[in-house]
Amino acid sequence: MARDYYEILGVSRNASDEELKKAYRKIAMKYHPDKNPGNKQAEEKFKETAEAYSVLTDSEKRRTYDQFGHDGLKSRGFSNAAGFGGGSGFDPFDIFREVFGGGFGGFEDFFSGGTGSRTRSGSRSGSDLKIQLALTLEEINTGVTKKVKIKRMNVCTACNGSGSKLGTSRITCPVCHGSGEIREMTRSLFGQMVNVRPCSNCQGEGSIAEQRCSSCGGDGKVRGIKEISVQVPSGVSAGNYLTMRDEGNAGIRKSPRGNLIVIFDEKPHDIFIRNEDDVFVNLHITIAEAVLGTDLEIPTLNGRVRLVIPPGTQSGKMLRLRQKGIHHLHHSGKGDQIVRIKVDIPVNSSSQEKKLYRELIDIEQKREGKFSRFSKIE
Ligand SMILES: [Zn+2]
Ligand SMILES: [Zn+2]
Repeated sequence: MARDYYEILGVSRNASDEELKKAYRKIAMKYHPDKNPGNKQAEEKFKETAEAYSVLTDSEKRRTYDQFGHDGLKSRGFSNAAGFGGGSGFDPFDIFREVFGGGFGGFEDFFSGGTGSRTRSGSRSGSDLKIQLALTLEEINTGVTKKVKIKRMNVCTACNGSGSKLGTSRITCPVCHGSGEIREMTRSLFGQMVNVRPCSNCQGEGSIAEQRCSSCGGDGKVRGIKEISVQVPSGVSAGNYLTMRDEGNAGIRKSPRGNLIVIFDEKPHDIFIRNEDDVFVNLHITIAEAVLGTDLEIPTLNGRVRLVIPPGTQSGKMLRLRQKGIHHLHHSGKGDQIVRIKVDIPVNSSSQEKKLYRELIDIEQKREGKFSRFSKIE
């Protein structure tokens, strides 16, 4: 049974021509017989996709198909719905050429990227490097310049990146005679086809080193270590990253370097917890300090400051120190430091302390009205 055309292309029933084209491109690329030599299933899918595309982009056929399905197309004499056998006049490669802009030139452009043709500078360029850089909250707050050592491919100094032994040059590849590609005629279901693949002798470059550089083996790059200065702006968060252009791996024979991507991480702090640009800290005080109030010198990311704790401060109270948090990333100003008061109940009191607490209890119990012992849980 013939499959639904929309399903074949993986599009909705009201897909636009643009969406159909996009879907077709993707599937046709995947199942093109050149990419799947000898694979019958791929060939079927390639044909099927071309058929679906050709029907759905023809408004009359599409209307018929939407209303009456495959049978409708057949009964109206639209030949291609009946298959691709001889005489139908339908060639899936015509569709392919139409969509991909004709000829093998355009076709090859799409295929050369991943697999090893190095005729375009893109695939010869150095790859990107990613590193993680862990920072303390203090460093994040002020911003910092960090020196980091990275392992990367550097330009070979023995040949200055040329890949050829000093004093020798490059010669035309004897296998492909300089074209960088090998063309083969193959017979397939659809007739004779030209199969183009990059020359493996020269990796598609058309030339080879007369004598390769012995240090780098001809690529013009060698493994090395490089110290890099990373300027970390103040206020970054874990997961933020910085792209340092042209600090990644060296490319083949002086092709452009990749980039270095520095991903920031945050080291846990001994006492502070960060929430956006605010920092939180617990401050433990005694019962007497809570009752009478006090002022204490406390640490912040921006130096020590005095904090006034008013008399009668309850455990859990949050006190805010404005502008004592972390510097904002892209603008001036800082977050706040929030100090949460924890009143500590002593566990191992001295006998003198116990004596004082006993006196305190006597006074408390004689006090008029006392206090309400019970309340509803919030
Ligand atoms: Zn070659
Ligand atoms: Zn070299």
